[in-house]
Amino acid sequence: MKDKEHLHLLKHLSRPGFFWPLLAVILIALLWAVTESKLAVEKLEAKDRAFQHARAVTSSYAEQVSRAFNDIDRTTLLVKHLWRSTRETVRLEDYFRSGVFPDTHFHVSASNTEGDVVTSTLALPQPLNFGTRDWFQSHKANPQVGLLISRPETGSRTGRTILRFSRRLEDASGNFSGAAWVTVEPPYLTTLYAAEALGRDEFISIRLVDGPLLVTKVGGAEGAPRIFYRKDPIFSLPEGIVEEPGEKFTDDASRIVAWKKVRNYPVVALAGLKEEAVYAAYEASAASWRFAAVAGTVLLASLGALGAFYSRRLARRHAESEEIKNTYRLAVDAAQEGFYTLRPIREQGQSHILDFRVEDCNERAAAFVGSTRDKVVGRAFSEVLPREYHGETDRVLRHVMDVGFHEEEFRVPSATHSGPSWVYRRFMKAGNGVAMVVRDISRHKAYEQELAKLANTDTLTALPNRNWLLEFLPEALRRAAESMSKLAVLFVDLDDFKNINDTLGHDAGDELLKSVASRLKAAVRASDHVIRLGGDEFTIVLEHVESTESVTRVAGLVVKALNEPFVLKGLENQRVRASVGISMFPQDGEDGETLLKHADVAMYAAKAAGKGRYHFYQSHLSERLILRLDKEKALRAAIEQEEFVVHYQPRVETTTGRLCSMEALVRWDHPEHGLIFPGEFIQIAEETGLILKLGRIVIKKVCEQLEDWKASGFPLVPVSVNVSAAQFAAGDVGGVLRELTSAHHIAPSLIEIELTESVMLTSGDAVAKDLDELRAMGVKILIDDFGTGYSSLSQLRDLDVDILKIDRAFTNVLCKDHEGEVFFKAIVSLGHALEMSIVAEGVETQEQHRALKELACDSIQGNFVSKPVPAHEMETMMVKSMLIAQDDMRVV
Ligand code: C2E
Ligand code: CA
Ligand code: CA
Repeated sequence: MKDKEHLHLLKHLSRPGFFWPLLAVILIALLWAVTESKLAVEKLEAKDRAFQHARAVTSSYAEQVSRAFNDIDRTTLLVKHLWRSTRETVRLEDYFRSGVFPDTHFHVSASNTEGDVVTSTLALPQPLNFGTRDWFQSHKANPQVGLLISRPETGSRTGRTILRFSRRLEDASGNFSGAAWVTVEPPYLTTLYAAEALGRDEFISIRLVDGPLLVTKVGGAEGAPRIFYRKDPIFSLPEGIVEEPGEKFTDDASRIVAWKKVRNYPVVALAGLKEEAVYAAYEASAASWRFAAVAGTVLLASLGALGAFYSRRLARRHAESEEIKNTYRLAVDAAQEGFYTLRPIREQGQSHILDFRVEDCNERAAAFVGSTRDKVVGRAFSEVLPREYHGETDRVLRHVMDVGFHEEEFRVPSATHSGPSWVYRRFMKAGNGVAMVVRDISRHKAYEQELAKLANTDTLTALPNRNWLLEFLPEALRRAAESMSKLAVLFVDLDDFKNINDTLGHDAGDELLKSVASRLKAAVRASDHVIRLGGDEFTIVLEHVESTESVTRVAGLVVKALNEPFVLKGLENQRVRASVGISMFPQDGEDGETLLKHADVAMYAAKAAGKGRYHFYQSHLSERLILRLDKEKALRAAIEQEEFVVHYQPRVETTTGRLCSMEALVRWDHPEHGLIFPGEFIQIAEETGLILKLGRIVIKKVCEQLEDWKASGFPLVPVSVNVSAAQFAAGDVGGVLRELTSAHHIAPSLIEIELTESVMLTSGDAVAKDLDELRAMGVKILIDDFGTGYSSLSQLRDLDVDILKIDRAFTNVLCKDHEGEVFFKAIVSLGHALEMSIVAEGVETQEQHRALKELACDSIQGNFVSKPVPAHEMETMMVKSMLIAQDDMRVV
């Protein structure tokens, strides 16, 4: 009975009047199902893209913040160190003036144990005390606090919002002796991130991990309302991303919020993107899709009705069916998908497939191959598809005949036609054929690539960024290793960037960075890579390097390119210069990180050697990276073994070129590393007190040498010995000298002592007595590195010394910069008025010598005359005596 009813129903439905409406209803349902599922996918994709974008913004911001925090942290450590090494008399004002600290939104101060501010880079109109503040109390109570980040507050001097990073200060014995802090204004932490990447009402901020806000920046027009969380969020995971509902924010807009913990600090960087903006594009396209679906529905419905009507006329039945299929195709065309139904072509009676025939397709599918449907249907697929990818597709089709299903994203060979560059293809075995669906995903792919580019490009200069470099280097190194070729990494750091920022403003700074980027690109081959690492640091990677000379040439070009003055904000003649450090693969490191680190180390060496130059990495430069403890131990042992030699550098009279003195410079003669220069160990020796023994060894070696020379009959000149502040503080330099000179039978007046200004100006009576005693013995006193330290010209009269040795930084700017010459002249005339003799050190060129002669500087020392040399090489110079010829003033 039931079956009978069933049969009846079927018969009823299959009657022509029902068939077409039913078919129309099925197709309409299908059309909507396809549309809605497609929209759901598209919405997910939009969300996915927004998530990726938020993650990219957050992680690049977190990276920048981590660098800024590192700078701040290092500054507090530097102050802590200076505090201790100057015995609590450091004057941050002087360091500020000399440009050690960053730009205008950055202030450094220190207080004594009571919390009274004693020194600061920010003007101190009246006494200030922080003794009662929580942070100060925590440092006082607890030595373990480390760097303390306080919540935002209003600065008592600036009246603006500030963030405070403080650190405990200790005296030489480790007791609490005050606090140091850096305060920064929010722009210091937000200008790091290019605002262009933020849309209206989107934000980036930094929060403590337990919630409180440190700084925030909102995209959109200037003066846009600030947006806050109503209640501080808590971040229990190191990174993540969530959709936050509108009620969480003061403007009631829901957002996608991504966060990432900043390496080494208890803070997170976060970015909030407005959902409304994220889905705007999607909503627009959804509306047009639905419109197309409605249109399709109306069409199908009316055709269904028409079909019902016409179907009664059997003669026209076939035509109607075709028309409905076409309509369906039309509706599907609006959905951007192309489809083919393909049937294998086989040789008569054989199972082997020769080709596929297009049984049907829609217009869009035909358009993808640059044709129309009527030209494609019925043809062999090998004739339809461009030759460039028919082979590939044919293989997939045969595979699908075996396994039933395949899907892929396919890059269309670019040579074929002007159609899509990327398509999504899905193949399904259906009966004895294959249904193939093709969708254009070029836009989506382009967006993906855009995102990748965003994450890999520096927004200011459009150069690739650190991210890019870190992905690129391993690949490049693998290639270099395979082809056994060399690769060079150049680390470029601008020398005076901060000056430009401070004096001309951030806009000028940005303008400068852009010009630097284009000069760097112009200085290298098109195949070389210029990367901006961040701030004023750039990297250049040279692949397929043939020789060190070619790297030297490029480094020279880079230095020269940046040496040329810039025009900024219409102001000509802005100078910055750059220091370049170079490391080479494979000899200086096998992986990217090591190469970068070594190039960085070499860059510091270039800076130390006087800026505006390049320096290759040498393994001894890394010595400073060896754990301090190891070094201290090694140094202690070296002192026991007396593993030291003294080199000598001549000083000559400026006018006559006659040898008048020489400087003793110690070198650590390391059994494995060879000669190590004082820059690598004097500081540790000073900090650990080992300098006392080392100083004694040097004086002893000098006395032995003089005794030796005297015995061999060489014409003697005085030798000047460098003596550190610590040696004087420990007292009895006079006693040591008296003992050793008499033991080796030489006159004390053959020894001169080089001191820095700080010793003279900050030490007490005991030192003054020591100096008096030395002078009484006939030992001359020199002030070394004059001009770099504590005293100003006006304090010169307080220095009771015989000779002023002007630091090589000033020699360096002679002939280059008018102000430098004026300064030099002032020192010379004031020094002469006070009956001091003037020495210029670091004289490297004939031009400098000539200028110094004109300035009436008494004597000169430097590579122009001779580098520091071992004692036996000094002997020739002692005999010759006249080291610079008079006629043309050349080195003889
Ligand atoms: P300093 O007293 O300023 O010594 C001069 C430094 O400048 C030496 O470096 C010397 O090699 C270098 N120099 C000389 N002429 C030129 C030149 O034309 N151009 C350039 N760019 N540099 C030149 P060195 O030997 O590495 O010594 C570094 C520092 O180590 C010295 O600076 C001094 O402060 C310290 N030092 C060296 N020997 C001793 C020592 O026996 N005892 C103590 N306490 N310190 C020492
Ligand atoms: Ca010296
Ligand atoms: Ca010096």
